[in-house]
Amino acid sequence: MNRNYEKLLSYVEKHRELILKTERYLWKHPEVGYKEWKTTEYLAEQFEKLDYTVTRPEDITGFVADLDTGRPGPKFAILGELDSLICETHPEAVPETKAVHACGHHCQTTAMLGCAAALAEPGALDGMCGSIRFMAVPAEETIDLEYRARLMEEGKIHYNAGKIEYLYRGYFDGVDMAAMVHAMTDEHHLFHLFHGGNGCINKHFEFEGTAAHAGVAPWDGVNALYEANVAMTACNALRETFIDKETMRFHPILTQAGVAANAIPDVAKMDAYARAATFGQMKSLNEKINRALAASAAALGGNLKIEDKPGNMPLYCDPNLYQECRELITELFGADALEERDWSYGSTDMGDISSIIPAIHPEAAGALGKPHGRDYRIADPEKTCVNPAKLLTCLAYRLLSDDAAVGKKVIREYQPVFESREAYFQAVNDLELTVRAVEYQENGDVLLHFGK
Ligand SMILES: [Zn+2]
Ligand SMILES: [Zn+2]
Repeated sequence: MNRNYEKLLSYVEKHRELILKTERYLWKHPEVGYKEWKTTEYLAEQFEKLDYTVTRPEDITGFVADLDTGRPGPKFAILGELDSLICETHPEAVPETKAVHACGHHCQTTAMLGCAAALAEPGALDGMCGSIRFMAVPAEETIDLEYRARLMEEGKIHYNAGKIEYLYRGYFDGVDMAAMVHAMTDEHHLFHLFHGGNGCINKHFEFEGTAAHAGVAPWDGVNALYEANVAMTACNALRETFIDKETMRFHPILTQAGVAANAIPDVAKMDAYARAATFGQMKSLNEKINRALAASAAALGGNLKIEDKPGNMPLYCDPNLYQECRELITELFGADALEERDWSYGSTDMGDISSIIPAIHPEAAGALGKPHGRDYRIADPEKTCVNPAKLLTCLAYRLLSDDAAVGKKVIREYQPVFESREAYFQAVNDLELTVRAVEYQENGDVLLHFGK
């Protein structure tokens, strides 16, 4: 093994206790997106103990901390997500908030801290140029949206997703490459690499009908639940038009479907995601769904309020960073350590970062149970936290050593989805839609509005 890797691995080992202690502390103190105040406080304190200067946004959670080699070169960002999930039935959920780290994000910030500790060791940056930015980012999971809507109304946030908010606030300015390692549950391999993952649009619908006595005069009503029912059937019929290689997904839930069984429901509410592998197909799928739902409301003489919000851009793991990680994992952890998987069907706001900055999103084993489920737990923090700390530390070296030859190649050959941050934000903002979809005209014609 490369001598420099050996040295860096020993620096990570030196901080094993700190890593394992941090993992347990964070597991026991989960907080949901944009509420990660204690988590931020705890981690910022650990960084300060390592002599880092922590920069915190005043009004939201998270922080960044820079480590400069003192020599000019690229800036490599290492990210850790702060937020937990809510899982009511999880035995270790906090009783008051039901929060629990059922996606293992606390392992990311723990690994990031381990990497920061190793790279702060004397001589750790020898042979490297440029700088490393550690970023503890809030709110990856798209949950608790009423709270975020309130933050938005108060002008405290501009986007539901924490990385998009950090991008908007300029914390990614000057960042040339980015990496993070997510926990996963494979018992046979230490790491997974994906080429990317689906993007998504977050959707909220309100079907409008007319209430009436369900026994005495149902003919006076317009049944909003049945509008939703027809709409779901229409979307299910659309599924055969979903393009296989686009890994399209539409998964709705009804959050309200009537309040009294003796009345025709006048409101039915639906939440859903529209997912696809590319930005263009994500928009096209979204439009099809909106059309089907609008037409279903019209079919029964009702109406429909559509609210679309940007979710995540598709994740594109940079091919060069992928290759570097593949070689590095094999060198550090052995030939059997890695499983290469083609595509992840979930979505992450790391996708947004990857559409304008070369990025990589490997996954590290050590968790057990179902992600987001009641049996999820960290079985082996060595695998979920210490190993990723080692990978990220050596990846920093690989990208920034030798006058950043590898890093500069990554930057030079990167093909962004959007040419500029302005173009990216334009595309994100264009996904926002609030419209009342059905317009009944006096001559009996019905107009549908479901797009821009
Ligand atoms: Zn998750
Ligand atoms: Zn996650």
